[in-house]
Amino acid sequence: MFVPMNEAKKYQFKPYEECPCESGQKYKFCCYAKSRNSKVDFRDYSATRITAEGRRLLKDTEFKMCFAFDTSECSKDLIGAHSIQNNGVLDKISVENHVYALSSEIDQNTMYPQLEFTPIGKNQASIFSGFCKKHDEDYFKCIEDKDYEGTLEQNYWFGFRALCFELHRKLRLKKSFANFFKKYPGATRTPSIYTEYYNTKLSIRDSWTEYERFKSAYAKKSFNNLESIVKVVPFTVGFTATTSVGVGMDMEGNLAADIYNYNDKHFIPNLYVSVIPKENMTLIIISRFHEDNCYKNILSQLNGNENDEKLFRYISFCLAEYSENVYFSPAVIDSLSEANKRKIKTAFMGVLSPTPELRLRNLYATTSLNLFDLKL
Ligand SMILES: [Zn+2]
Ligand SMILES: [Zn+2]
Repeated sequence: MFVPMNEAKKYQFKPYEECPCESGQKYKFCCYAKSRNSKVDFRDYSATRITAEGRRLLKDTEFKMCFAFDTSECSKDLIGAHSIQNNGVLDKISVENHVYALSSEIDQNTMYPQLEFTPIGKNQASIFSGFCKKHDEDYFKCIEDKDYEGTLEQNYWFGFRALCFELHRKLRLKKSFANFFKKYPGATRTPSIYTEYYNTKLSIRDSWTEYERFKSAYAKKSFNNLESIVKVVPFTVGFTATTSVGVGMDMEGNLAADIYNYNDKHFIPNLYVSVIPKENMTLIIISRFHEDNCYKNILSQLNGNENDEKLFRYISFCLAEYSENVYFSPAVIDSLSEANKRKIKTAFMGVLSPTPELRLRNLYATTSLNLFDLKL
């Protein structure tokens, strides 16, 4: 599960490709030329520090769009659509209208990034400007206004919303890289940075491929293009998640998607995961497109699984390792010991881990995490 660092050298911007700072000029005549006079030394910049800085830059990249399949019908008001159900899910876990997100900060002693539970307003939590008012209502009414009945169509919309949420975030991340390159042209020659940039770019391309699959399924009303596993657990968990992620490992530790294959011809599909706390129960929905054979094992393992603990650990692993769209109940987190809080923060570090040793330690924490112990 490690990013092989020597792989990074394979990527380099080519002289006549469009400059990644998005100036519209060729790289050779833009950031490459500027970087030769640049005084900033990036040898001290770890990928993780860049990631942390990138996240700060993310704040300046908010933009509104509508992911509808036919945007000629959009309403004028682009609202912030919620990536997590509007109807009561965040109410369930919020305290005084706040939930916790994990946000990265730089530790002033070690200068390493670390994660902290940060309160954010329920309405700001997981909001993203990815649908106009009309489409937000039209598309998601079957999961917002109706009780969940496990229909193919409902599972489809859960998956589609997760995809759009993550895609919007990646588009913003790419923009924040462009802003970063504009500020520090030398960063275009730093392997750890351009590797991150490339990964984001490839991941955006793959997400658009997935988007086309959703679009075609919608046009033909063939919601059964997705295979879903639904599990209802008889208690309310103190967190919620909606995400679409490339998953590298199945429940038995075998390779699933080859997520560290950086060949630019390689397509990495998503698995769609939602964890939705409700009254006295929690809903877990996991979906894949049938054609993604790399996830076939995961779905059949989930289907045949009778060991809840194993299921909970596997979902916890997927969320901690691959996702950022997880929100926690302040009531539950505040009641944990410092050691247990640290365990969650460590597990979610994932690719933010600043050294291979810490990556290993954090990965270990990830595999032993059970977020379903967080009960309301
Ligand atoms: Zn440039
Ligand atoms: Zn629209």
